[in-house]
Amino acid sequence: EVALAGRAYDIVIGRGLLASLGERVAALRPGARAAIVTDETVAEYHLRAAETSLNEAGITTSRVLVAAGEASKSYPVFERVCEELIAARIERNDLVVALGGGVIGDLSGFVASAVRRGLDFVQVPTTLLAQVDSSVGGKTGINSRLGKNLIGAFHQPILVVADTALLDTLPVRIMRAGYAEVAKYGLIGDADFFAWLENNWRDVFAGGPAREHAIAVSCRMKAQIVARDERETGDRALLNLGHTFGHALEAAAGFSDRLYHGEAISIGMALAFAFSARRGLCSQADSERVVRHLSAVGLPTRISDIPGEKPGAEWLLDLIAQDKKVRRGRLTFILAHGIGQSFIAPDVDVADVREFLTDQLR
Ligand code: NAD
Ligand code: ZN
Repeated sequence: EVALAGRAYDIVIGRGLLASLGERVAALRPGARAAIVTDETVAEYHLRAAETSLNEAGITTSRVLVAAGEASKSYPVFERVCEELIAARIERNDLVVALGGGVIGDLSGFVASAVRRGLDFVQVPTTLLAQVDSSVGGKTGINSRLGKNLIGAFHQPILVVADTALLDTLPVRIMRAGYAEVAKYGLIGDADFFAWLENNWRDVFAGGPAREHAIAVSCRMKAQIVARDERETGDRALLNLGHTFGHALEAAAGFSDRLYHGEAISIGMALAFAFSARRGLCSQADSERVVRHLSAVGLPTRISDIPGEKPGAEWLLDLIAQDKKVRRGRLTFILAHGIGQSFIAPDVDVADVREFLTDQLR
C-alpha cells in the first residue's frame, strides 16, 4: 500500500496478475470505461490480454497507441493522446490505463492529470524499471526541449498491477537497466537486501518467486519513502542515488540507445560510492563491492564503459549544473556511509567533484 491520506492505493505484484486486471478495476470503479494507452511494442505482446480481462469484467475499452521510445514523452504526442481520449468520450468518472514502461506511465499519467482536470488512472507497468520505480509515486510528465521531465504533475494512480510474467518478453538489456534501480534500493537503505541480490540476482532475471520478492521489496521501500515525502521536500531525494552523475551521462549520450537510463544510473551509483570512499565517508571495500555486483549482472560501472565518444569532466559538470541547483559552488549529492546507508549531502563542493571526475577519466 502507498499510504497517502485520502488517496492511498495498492500495488499488487505477482505472476499472471494481468488476467485479474478487469475485476480489480471493476471493484474500484464499477461502470467506468477505460482508455488503454500503450506503445506499439507492448501492444503486440500484451494489449489483447489486458483488453480481454477488462472487457470480461464489463469494462468497455478503447485504445491509444504511441510509438515505442522516449520520443513519445513530448508535446505533440501529449496533445494527440489528450485529443484521442476526448474523442473516445472518456469522461470524469472513466479511467486511463497505462500499459507499458516508464515512458507510457509518465506520458499517460500526465495526460490523466490534465484531461477534464484530472482522470483516475491505473498503472500496468511492463518493464522492470516501471514495476519497481516509475509506476509508484505519482511523478508524471513529458520532456521539454531544454531537458528531461521538466513539464509534469504529481498525479497518483488509483492502483498499480505489476504482473511479473510481462517481463518475460523484455530484451535482456532493458531488464538489466531496470535492475540497476532494484540494486539502488539495497544501496539506499537495505544492506540485507543488497546481500540477498548478490546471491539471487540470476533468479530475478529467470522469473519465479525471486523476481516477485525483489519487486515487492523495492516497491515497499519506494512506497514508504513516497508516503513520508510525496513532493520531495526531504527524504524522497534519497531515491536519486546515482542520478546526479547518471543524468549528466545520459544527457552527454544524447538520451539515446547508447546509454539507457538504468545503465547511466549503474555508472552513477558506482561513482557515488567511489566519491564517498575517496572522501573517507565509506570504505573502499564497500565501493568495490558495488562495482563487483553491478558488473556481475552485466551493467556498466565506469564512464569508459559508455560506447562512442566519452564525455569530459567539464562537460559533465556543465550538465550537472543544468540538472541540479548549484549555490555558491556547492550542490546536493546523495552519498553513502556504506551499503544500505545513503544520505543526503547538501553541501558538496563542485571543485571536489571536478577533481574526482578528472581522476576517474584519467
Ligand atoms: P520504456 O517505457 O521506453 O520501455 C523500454 C522499451 O521496452 C520500449 O521500447 C518498450 O516498447 C519496451 N517494452 C516495454 N515493456 C515490454 C515488454 N513487456 N516486453 C517487450 N518490450 C517491452 O522505458 P523504461 O525503461 O520502462 O522507462 C524509462 C522512462 O521512465 C524514462 O522516460 C524515465 O524518465 C522514466 N522514469 C520515471 C520515473 C517516475 O518516477 N515517474 C522514475 C524512473 C524513470
Ligand atoms: Zn532512475
